Amino acid sequence: MNRIFIFLTIFVIFSILETFFQENPRTFSRKQRWPGNFAMAFSANLILRVIFPVGLAGYSHYLENNNFGLFNNFSIPAEFILSIVLLDFWIWFQHVLTHKFQPLWKLHRVHHSDVELDASSALRFHPIEIIFSILFKIILITLLGIKEDAILWFEAILNGMAIFNHANLYLPSSIERLLRKIVVTPQMHLIHHNQERKYSDTNYGFNLSLWDRLFKTYTDQKPADQVTGQKKFRSLEAQSLLALLKQPFAK
Ligand SMILES: [Zn+2]
Repeated sequence: MNRIFIFLTIFVIFSILETFFQENPRTFSRKQRWPGNFAMAFSANLILRVIFPVGLAGYSHYLENNNFGLFNNFSIPAEFILSIVLLDFWIWFQHVLTHKFQPLWKLHRVHHSDVELDASSALRFHPIEIIFSILFKIILITLLGIKEDAILWFEAILNGMAIFNHANLYLPSSIERLLRKIVVTPQMHLIHHNQERKYSDTNYGFNLSLWDRLFKTYTDQKPADQVTGQKKFRSLEAQSLLALLKQPFAK
């Protein structure tokens, strides 16, 4: 299984779909946003390969060989599904933290400063936020001893779902209503990307919509003014790779 190939295939499919079935009219062209978003994904990948060459799957092997964590010591029913669901809860929780603590928010705000959403927004994360996210996942993986296959499946689902729920994709409302009972839809996630904090502090989910419902952070209320992004970073200059990398350290 070549992860990059699967990721690119899903990306191309949704980029084509959002061209034909658009939810919101574009005010920026792809040419203005895509270079920065792609460059962010590329640089984050490069940095990760250097500082964390074994990846989470390699780390999980180490835990298994050394009988670390719950699943490596006890036989738990439905371990695979449980691992994926708990990882999903864990990154939901991490996402809440990145909105509540100022230093983490400055990193996560790079993702939120995209002036419009489409499939490429799923690529736009600051490398330091990705490192933080890996360290955060390591905590749960270590405690539970989550196995390699569950980690790989979770990462693949997360990548695919991130492309889906950032896509500027029209869905018939009957289908969308049904889908959001279980998963995070683009319409749900667009509210999270509103420039007003009152909206961006809702709908934190990536995969299952359950966590926001359970912890009362769910909203289906459409903002009156549907402006995506951050007021401070709306210029085109703010969308370049260098500006995005420097953004968390700006005053
Ligand atoms: Zn967020």
